Amino acid sequence: MNKSQQIYHYVRTHQSVSKQDIVLGLKFSLPTITQKLQYLEQMNLIDTSKKIQNTGGRNATAYSYVKGARAAIGVYLTGHHINCVAVDLSGDVIDMTKERIKFNLEDEDYLKKIGEVVERIKNDAEISDENLLGVGIAVQGLVSEDGEVVTYGLTLNFTGKTREEIARYIPYNCRLFHDSSAAGYAEVWIDHEICNAFYISLSNSVGGAVLVDNNIYEGNTQKSGEIGHMTVVPEGGEQCYCGRYGCFDTVCRSTNLDQYTDGNLELFFALLQSKDREAERLWEKYLDDLALGIHNIRMLFDSDIILGGYVGAYIESYMDELCRRVDKRTSFSDCAKDFLFPCKYKVESAAAGAAICFIDEFFDTI
Ligand SMILES: [Zn+2]
Repeated sequence: MNKSQQIYHYVRTHQSVSKQDIVLGLKFSLPTITQKLQYLEQMNLIDTSKKIQNTGGRNATAYSYVKGARAAIGVYLTGHHINCVAVDLSGDVIDMTKERIKFNLEDEDYLKKIGEVVERIKNDAEISDENLLGVGIAVQGLVSEDGEVVTYGLTLNFTGKTREEIARYIPYNCRLFHDSSAAGYAEVWIDHEICNAFYISLSNSVGGAVLVDNNIYEGNTQKSGEIGHMTVVPEGGEQCYCGRYGCFDTVCRSTNLDQYTDGNLELFFALLQSKDREAERLWEKYLDDLALGIHNIRMLFDSDIILGGYVGAYIESYMDELCRRVDKRTSFSDCAKDFLFPCKYKVESAAAGAAICFIDEFFDTI
């Protein structure tokens, strides 16, 4: 990080600080700090309108971080919805909207709708053109390294589609993201304690992301973390959407639970709370299968493991049960409660993550 970035992040982390605090904290010379603070102020990234109350002497200027100085938008295209969020420089979701519409990239009206939703959230969140850092589009598929092409989109049958086609009606800087990678990135970005992690997305399909040193490890061909297609039922397993049998996806996708409640996962967990027998049976089986996947991932990566996606949003109350099952499998003395965590972004993590990538890029340009 250059000196401006270090000063910016110092102010960002410590909130309201004086110039003297920065001198002591970063050990830069006063003229350097003065010059860099002026630059950051010109960019509207820090606020100097407040004073720090000193006992005796003059009140010093308080430098504070303006989290709303820039923003990014994230869109998540699912089978039946366009989900859209705006995030500020802290990664906080400042606005969100959702439009129910069937995924169909061949339909011009659908593409126009994506543009409309982006425009709506930009207006609602009052983001000016100058302050908008970019629009990240998370999709249910694998994406090329440059964020331009969908390289594998079997769940929704859109392999080969390009950023240009999908974002035809978005007149801003855009990029495509693999949904699990974006969601995993958001989790690690927001939690400074986490550095190496495996993110498991437990939604209608199962995905994952490998995060090493706070960065996505994409693999040689952008297929890292695809645990949905790890074989866990070698004989007689169900067929996966990929065509193979016995994939982890077939036992841990959320539809294994909400098929019992007509696609309503909230209702499934309500029934589970009220000790409905069938819900309990499905859940027991699900936890066993999930524990197996978690154990194998832990053996491979020795990292934290974060549970996200639709099921991840509900799993907090069941962590003890799940940890017990994982601990039963371990070959070492690790305790799952020390490395296994529910996600922090309970809603719209993929959209938020796609937006956060632009925030991160912006920090590099300061
Ligand atoms: Zn598969």
